[in-house]
Amino acid sequence: MPRRCTVCAHPEREAINKALVAGEPYRSVANRYDSLSQAAVQRHEVNHIPATLAKAKEAEEVAHADGLLADVRSLQARTLAVLEAAELSHEHRTALAAIREARSNLELLAKLLGELDERPSVAVNVLVSAEWLQLRTVLVGALEPHPDARESVLRAIEGGGNGRA
Ligand SMILES: [Zn+2]
Repeated sequence: MPRRCTVCAHPEREAINKALVAGEPYRSVANRYDSLSQAAVQRHEVNHIPATLAKAKEAEEVAHADGLLADVRSLQARTLAVLEAAELSHEHRTALAAIREARSNLELLAKLLGELDERPSVAVNVLVSAEWLQLRTVLVGALEPHPDARESVLRAIEGGGNGRA
């Protein structure tokens, strides 16, 4: 069992974190709170502050992206309303302009959703497997004049490393 962190368990944890992030010395932070030792404060900063900061940053980024997403969605709703009105009154030029706007809103939405969808590993895998397919094509092509070698290389490829890490 890891030792319980007295700073993490402290009711004033957020104030302590703020002081530490602001660069206040361990000793001065520890002195302010009776129950905290300097060692505990130091341990907390080294072991727990980075994760806290990373989480806060992530939450901030997600909130920011969510805000943008909401903006683009409301923009799209208004664009579609304009499109509908233009169609009803047979204003074709306006309708076409609204369609163009709607399309670029959709592109923006797709981009934002792509950024929100935190699956960098999927993108990396796709990239890796695209590279792998390319390499495989080159290999098979290069071995064309050597059918036997090609046969065994292909067998090795299918049997073992299939590009998945
Ligand atoms: Zn802690």
